[in-house]
Amino acid sequence: MAQIIHILPERLCNQIAAGEVVERPASVVKELIENSLDAGATSILVEVEQGGKRLVRVTDNGVGMSRDDAFLCLERHATSKLKSEDDLGRLLTLGFRGEALPSIAAVSRMLLRTRAQDSLEAWEIYLEGGQVKRADAAGAPVGTTIEVRNLFYNLPARRKFLRTDETEFGHIADMVGRLALARPPIQFQLIHNGRSVIDVNRQSRLAERFAELLGPALLRDMVPVDRDRNGLRLHGLVSEPTLSRPSANAMYTYINGRHIRDRVVHHAVREGYRNLIMKGRHPVLALFLDMDPSLVDVNVHPTKHEVRFRDQAAIHDFIAESVRDSLASSSRGGRESIRNQLTVSTRPTSDAASPAAFPVNHSPAAPARQEPLVREIDAAYRPARSTAEQHGNAPVGRNLERLEEEGNKGFFGSLEVIGQFHSSYILCQDGSDLVLVDQHAAHERIAFEKLKEQYREAGVQGQQLLFPLVLDFDHREAAVLEQNMPLLEQLGFDLEPFGGPSYALKGAPGILADREGEELLRKVVGELAAYGRSALMEEVVDGLLILMACHRVVRANQLLCQREIEALLNDLDRTEFNAQCPHGRPVFKRITLAEVERMFRRT
Ligand code: ADP
Ligand code: MG
Repeated sequence: MAQIIHILPERLCNQIAAGEVVERPASVVKELIENSLDAGATSILVEVEQGGKRLVRVTDNGVGMSRDDAFLCLERHATSKLKSEDDLGRLLTLGFRGEALPSIAAVSRMLLRTRAQDSLEAWEIYLEGGQVKRADAAGAPVGTTIEVRNLFYNLPARRKFLRTDETEFGHIADMVGRLALARPPIQFQLIHNGRSVIDVNRQSRLAERFAELLGPALLRDMVPVDRDRNGLRLHGLVSEPTLSRPSANAMYTYINGRHIRDRVVHHAVREGYRNLIMKGRHPVLALFLDMDPSLVDVNVHPTKHEVRFRDQAAIHDFIAESVRDSLASSSRGGRESIRNQLTVSTRPTSDAASPAAFPVNHSPAAPARQEPLVREIDAAYRPARSTAEQHGNAPVGRNLERLEEEGNKGFFGSLEVIGQFHSSYILCQDGSDLVLVDQHAAHERIAFEKLKEQYREAGVQGQQLLFPLVLDFDHREAAVLEQNMPLLEQLGFDLEPFGGPSYALKGAPGILADREGEELLRKVVGELAAYGRSALMEEVVDGLLILMACHRVVRANQLLCQREIEALLNDLDRTEFNAQCPHGRPVFKRITLAEVERMFRRT
């Protein structure tokens, strides 16, 4: 039989590689900016036309390339960032595969102009579909410009998949924003069809860059995070639970400076917000995890969005706990959070409230566009300081003073009680504001935190089933189950080996109906393998405790006497995360005098 296998020609290889690396114009922007960053640029200009379909041009002031390198960089697997196998384990550059430039060149008309630091002239190379058409010496400053025109011009099928200019540009703006957010000291400019959309100067702090890219108003609801443990460091900004979004788009997460969308990291963050944010809502955050590069494999995915950790459970728990602790220290008593608030804010409040304070020409896709909506939704749920700040009546200082005066009394305890509305809401006065407290939500949070404390000491109470259930697991599940038996017992499960991978379920958490016990057990076992154990156990435990809290607490529609109201408010002050019930609903709402006056047209 004749030989039928042959090695593919170089050009075809590059087109195939382009299929992975170059999905759309935004992928070109990403690869080019990453190269500029790796080249040590401090200023990066991105110009695009027609959503990047017609043109993407990235200009940087990095180290540039010599004539020989300029030719070499267009070859497949040509890179300056990796020399040996060992380097693969300690990568700190964004690139390393040596695939981007030849792949992009293969599916576009590309012009590369570059001048090395020690060189007197620049070199310019023009390619079509990956073939060099022209190469000349040229005049240009030190650095590199890469121009990519008519992406996919030679692959009509791929070109058809591109969306409208607006959509493609949205992806580009997103991409530039993500890269710029992680590098405050670097100047970025993005221009679309001649209009400047992002323009951020060199900045020294993340908070400043964050405010410029996402809007200064958001910053007032952000809590700083900075923790380290065993060579891991997590730092950045996370939103107070009162500030949330309907999608996870504003969760910016990075590992060693690289933007990633990793399921373990996202899960860990959600874990940090557990019971603080309503189902289906997501926090706003910019979080940076720095770690030994040899403990994380970025070479999992061609676009490097996903990673693989050596010790997934440890990373997961570290992130979840760091986020949680940071939120807790900000929520613990009004005093601390007000102080935090004061240190985070970089601009005077009056500035932040006026639209003119947005120096960025926000793109359609930039998250800041959601701001007015978010404000509306969240203004309702926002704790004292922010709402009041918005109205500019300088309450922060006043609150601080009052807290100082009243010694140990917290925010809730120092409210002036007016009475009860509909046997469900406690009406209070706070300075010139009206504060409504949802007594059911308040009770739920208090009961939940108390149950949690009890659980830490004694575990969940189990209840024997009338008829034990024999459950079959697969071998992997059975192994996980066996390893975690003590934890499962603490959760209230009573299990007995029943031969092979089968177990008899004899008891389950008392709060559940029989069938729910099996369902919960299967879920726990299934996910134990996926995320490492403590995270899930806590989630499950919390789920159970919430159920119990709901069963136990005072329902709405309960008349309370003055003393009971005061006790409730004081209890709230002693409770962590007292601004939300365990389902993430707000515990209180503030209506300012100005708002009341507006209702009565008294302005
Ligand atoms: P990788 O980034 O994975 O090394 P690329 O194909 O993106 O692969 O780039 C190939 C090489 O070209 C890089 O390793 C780098 O040496 C050089 N290079 C690319 N872009 C630039 C730039 N903007 N400035 C200087 N050198 C660059
Ligand atoms: Mg690269």
